[in-house]
Amino acid sequence: MNAPIIVIATHNPGKLREIGELLEPLSFSVTGAAELGLPEPEETGSSFAENAAIKSEAAATATGLIALADDSGLVVQALDGAPGVHSARWAGPERDFCRAMKRVERELKQSRTTDYSAKFVCALALTRPGKGTKVFEGEVSGTLIFPPRGTEGFGYDPIFIAEGMTQTFGEIQPRRKHEISHRARAFAKLIGFLERESTPA
Ligand code: IMP
Repeated sequence: MNAPIIVIATHNPGKLREIGELLEPLSFSVTGAAELGLPEPEETGSSFAENAAIKSEAAATATGLIALADDSGLVVQALDGAPGVHSARWAGPERDFCRAMKRVERELKQSRTTDYSAKFVCALALTRPGKGTKVFEGEVSGTLIFPPRGTEGFGYDPIFIAEGMTQTFGEIQPRRKHEISHRARAFAKLIGFLERESTPA
């Protein structure tokens, strides 16, 4: 039997790569929204969960396929949760994360805080045609460090050290990040759900 196709509703190559790796235990044939020429819907939601559902529902409606979307970002305690759902926007249209990380540093310095705690949050939305949408969330807490360190990962990884670690997500191997990241934790919930669904009662 052919593996069912799942569309990953993202145009971000870093996320597509990570999601593809995290989906490996499941027998899906994975394709990206950009490969299918799908437009990027406007993220008008006020939470990660709302934005993930907007993206997965748009991709499932456009293709008639199962769609999975990730909405995620960096939540900085001393910045009242910013950049939060605006994490991608802080990098500007050219997706310049050096600029986004500098803005986080500047705003923390301006606020004169000594609290550099932050977390990454991930909401995964799964839309199955005729079966609606389910959202799964994961978080990882940590501390921010400047200047950025490491070239692994993507986005804000070089300034984030997860609790209990000494290296940033930009310095550790993808395999290590997949053991503890916000995305990995949301995926564990998604995989548990799919396994329960496929097990006869
Ligand atoms: P969106 O979910 O496409 O709106 O984008 C979320 C943004 O949050 C990404 O472009 C990254 O900048 C940031 N982000 C989300 N997850 C991670 C991660 O695992 N590492 C670093 N940055 C992340």
